[in-house]
Amino acid sequence: MSRVTVDQKMMINCRADLNQLVPLKYDWAWQKYLDGCANHWMPQEVNMTADIALWKSKDGLTDDERRVIKRSLGFFSTADSLVANNLVLAVYRLITNPECRQYILRQAFEEAIHTHAYQYCVESLSMDEGEIFNMYHEVPSVAAKAEWGLRYTGSIADPDFKTGTPETDRALLKNLIAYYCVLEGMFFYCGFSQILSMGRRNKMTGVAEQFQYILRDESMHLNFGIDVINQIKIENPQLWDAQMQSESRDMILEATQLEIDYARDTMPNGILGMNAGTMEEYLRFIANRRLVQIGLKEEWPGAQTPFPWMSEIMDLKKEKNFFETRVTDYQTGGALAWD
Ligand code: FE
Repeated sequence: MSRVTVDQKMMINCRADLNQLVPLKYDWAWQKYLDGCANHWMPQEVNMTADIALWKSKDGLTDDERRVIKRSLGFFSTADSLVANNLVLAVYRLITNPECRQYILRQAFEEAIHTHAYQYCVESLSMDEGEIFNMYHEVPSVAAKAEWGLRYTGSIADPDFKTGTPETDRALLKNLIAYYCVLEGMFFYCGFSQILSMGRRNKMTGVAEQFQYILRDESMHLNFGIDVINQIKIENPQLWDAQMQSESRDMILEATQLEIDYARDTMPNGILGMNAGTMEEYLRFIANRRLVQIGLKEEWPGAQTPFPWMSEIMDLKKEKNFFETRVTDYQTGGALAWD
């Protein structure tokens, strides 16, 4: 086998040797791998003491607040497993580029950490784990979102599935839009903003801190996914025809409605300075961004975010400050002594 050159490297259907990481072609993928590793964290490092006391106290939380916390843990605990399985069983094999795979390996571990974080919250709060982990079967607004995601992973996760025809290449592209733009890019946003809003009001600050770390990872997953989708479009412009564009738009609009339904179900009354109406506004703003990020037109021009603090939390520079204030020291390789 010959030495790989940059020109031979391609996102999908690449025939060059995939065991040669260098020379790098997609610097953005390598950079995200480095950034992801620099943000390493573990759920047990977050102090849950105040949350445990508040959760156990009779009047510390309203029924509406308890509902939001349980629904969030219920939806996310399964959603991050769906994402991980799709990534490892479908996407990894079909993305034929070593530097992207390097990031996907990092992302897969982050998904495991996220599922661990939800499990850790459920365990710390002595919740009924059967109730939480079965919500994606038992609670309709949660089940609808999980089922929507599963629809796009089915054929792709078949070990015999191969890209290389216009139909199968488009199926992969749809899977990437479903998982990166919608699951990680839209379906997480109602729950994230609810829990982080709670943390801003000094309630369930441990759960909120876990979610803040997860959100930071997720915004990188999303940005990686957008880059992957757009790079595939650049290399395979024939895939992005009028039909594919309109189907992609429909996916995002359908998902927006599911997330609005979820907002209504989780917030039957106003809560935490937000309600189903402000959440709907926020989700239109998010959907617009996802559409534009993959090259489509906004659906609700001029939609504004009612939660500007969410963008601040996701701003990587601010998050770096947040990160630097941590008290935990990591035992990285540099901490090992050889004598
Ligand atoms: Fe993720």
